[in-house]
Amino acid sequence: MEEDPAGTVKTKAENERNERRTSTNHDEEQMTSPQVLSYLCRHLYNLGWMPGSGGAISMREGDTLYVTPSGVQKERVKASDVFELCADGSVLSGPSNLRPSQCLPLFQLIYEVHGPGTIIHSHSIAVVMATILYPGRWLRLSHLHMIKGVPRQSTGGRRRWDEELCIPVIENEAEDKDMAGSLRVALSAQPDCPAVLIRRHGAYIWGQSWDKAKTTAESIDYLCDVAVRMKQSGLNIELPPSGEKGFE
Ligand SMILES: [Zn+2]
Repeated sequence: MEEDPAGTVKTKAENERNERRTSTNHDEEQMTSPQVLSYLCRHLYNLGWMPGSGGAISMREGDTLYVTPSGVQKERVKASDVFELCADGSVLSGPSNLRPSQCLPLFQLIYEVHGPGTIIHSHSIAVVMATILYPGRWLRLSHLHMIKGVPRQSTGGRRRWDEELCIPVIENEAEDKDMAGSLRVALSAQPDCPAVLIRRHGAYIWGQSWDKAKTTAESIDYLCDVAVRMKQSGLNIELPPSGEKGFE
């Protein structure tokens, strides 16, 4: 047993647990941005969000951007395939036989408006189906616990499970860069939401760190999946729950 600076006596088991936790965090902190992007590509491909070389991810360190390459199967993206760029999009380093993702202009726009650390562009089926089944400018969700997993962009604070989360939806275009105008409008229309959905295409979702962006993206994907299943079950997601009465 030993005493920590706060004067709390810790058991050997507690110390070992803390050492393991520190070790895990340390390993993650040691990953470079290209290594994180390679890891995220494999992870999100395995979730079904990046089939057929679709989707993209970007990270920012100060004025330096990191972007996944275009046209590479996401489960095979290596750290050495990741492009390092200036904020204006000029390439600092990257493989000579590849090009940066065509999403770069939209990543730059989101960095300019909201300044996140990581942006994920997903082609998830749940998102695509939600934008088809809810054809308006907004996907409005409330009374779902995972709303708490989508932080307020202004403060980073958590939402309540029963508040309304409005995610803006823009229309798809032939090229990603052609959506810059509508994306800019959507970003200013709902500045507290760290995501924009693209009808019949996917989503851009972001966070201050890569793990925040990942958990936010997973939460939004889950919420889109629920929205789809509620519509398929004939339930109106915009109505507050009624007739639900369990133990309290
Ligand atoms: Zn796309």
